[in-house]
Amino acid sequence: MWNHPGQYIDGRFVDATGPDEFTVIDPSTGQILVTGPEAGVADVDAAVDAATTAFGEWGRTTPGERSELIGRWAGELSAIADELAAVESRQAGKPIRLTTEFDVPGTIDNTAFFAGAARHLEGKASAEYSPDHTSTIRREPIGVIGSIAPWNYPLQMAAWKILPAVAAGNTIVLKPSELTPLTSLMFADAASRAGIPAGVINVVTGRGVTTGTALVGHRDVSMVSFTGSTPVGRAIAASVPGRRLHLELGGKAPFVVFDDADLEAAAQGAVAGSLINTGQDCTAATRAYVQRPLYAAFVERVAELMSSVVLGATDDPATDLGPLISRDQQQRVAAMVDRAAASGATVVTGGQIPGGAPAGSSYYLPTLITDATQDSEIVQDEVFGPVLVALPFDTDDEGIRLANDTVYGLAASAWTQGLNRAGRASREIRAGCVWINDHIPIISEMPHGGLKASGYGKDMSTYSLDEYTNIKHVMTDITGVARKGWHRTVFRG
Ligand code: NAD
Repeated sequence: MWNHPGQYIDGRFVDATGPDEFTVIDPSTGQILVTGPEAGVADVDAAVDAATTAFGEWGRTTPGERSELIGRWAGELSAIADELAAVESRQAGKPIRLTTEFDVPGTIDNTAFFAGAARHLEGKASAEYSPDHTSTIRREPIGVIGSIAPWNYPLQMAAWKILPAVAAGNTIVLKPSELTPLTSLMFADAASRAGIPAGVINVVTGRGVTTGTALVGHRDVSMVSFTGSTPVGRAIAASVPGRRLHLELGGKAPFVVFDDADLEAAAQGAVAGSLINTGQDCTAATRAYVQRPLYAAFVERVAELMSSVVLGATDDPATDLGPLISRDQQQRVAAMVDRAAASGATVVTGGQIPGGAPAGSSYYLPTLITDATQDSEIVQDEVFGPVLVALPFDTDDEGIRLANDTVYGLAASAWTQGLNRAGRASREIRAGCVWINDHIPIISEMPHGGLKASGYGKDMSTYSLDEYTNIKHVMTDITGVARKGWHRTVFRG
């Protein structure tokens, strides 16, 4: 298996010189996959220097030149698709079906999309908005981007950070999560094989407090793009005041089922939407609000479907649900469920570590909770595990009010056969994405990003190019006259 733990700097793999080591563990077995030194300040300096030097030329390439190279990169990724799927599955504990059918094809599609999007850096038409001048918009790359990514979708998060930045003419230093760095390194290496010049894409690996802090605080990093938890995002924002930031943070997605919904579709959608990636998805369905006439049947059907989900070895194509990312995460999820039960909630199904799981693994059973109060921790805070809470509501107003009643605003869904209800929910639910009669699908052409404590800015789609470009207005006099009319407002001579 591909297992280089090191850094990817200036177009090649190098060993880090930092004083501390980190390990990558397969959470389905507890086995160590790789151990290596983490990037220290000197390594981060080397990566930022390489990116700064590379920006000199890459920032001046034409969109067409970038497009061609990114298109080739998509081809290089296709050539290693099986290996990427296997490594992603091992390091993140994802079932091989998920990495083969979702993570890897999604990443290749995103890469192919940005090959095209590189040629669509749009702006307002150049024109004479004043009679004496032609106004033009220049969209310019920002410079060196420092990016920090989480462990839940390591490959896709690397793609979401790197592709729009590079398509827009920036260079980048990415720090993936220390738990899952391997596929980010493979992604960067494939870019080199496609002909993307050395230094344009660099990957440094290590923990947040060490490597991450050195990267976001580096004075030559012009913008920080972070995907991760809300507390860390807030800490980074506070640590680099005035620096341009893009923050994709936590979520607590509501799943609102109105009484005219297709009950079976809603139950199926709730199970898939809450269990995808073992619930470690910032848009996962976490709070199912179900209008009272459907509530009991919904709870019964979701519990039945959850009990049929197959936990197992991640390399087995028959496995539906893999482990949580780590023993720490497993203990965190178990503690939140236990606290909910202790405060009066009912664990309808799950709520335990499954018997018979490998000793060092971090599996947790699909869990459905009822009878929790709206203000309780399990309803308000991100669990990031295979846990769905179901709560009843009476009026449409109440359903929408409850859906909006957390600090987060990343994603939501509404389930109804009624056009008016769907329209109202899509207007009134405060989130970056509202699905109607589905929950989870994403596509390269459409943006992803949150509101409120879920952050700001967009990943994917041509909207993400806005994050990674400066918009400059160039205003050119077309009269050739020394004494302009407007000068009279300043001096009469
Ligand atoms: P995390 O915030 O703990 O870590 C994210 C990254 O930040 C890691 O690479 C980590 O090493 C680094 N980091 C930690 N402290 C740092 C610091 N002080 N300075 C610089 N870097 C630092 O998040 P996680 O546990 O890896 O991922 C799960 C979280 O990510 C969840 O909250 C989830 O909702 C969120 N997430 C959000 C999106 C989105 O698009 N909004 C997508 C995926 C995950």
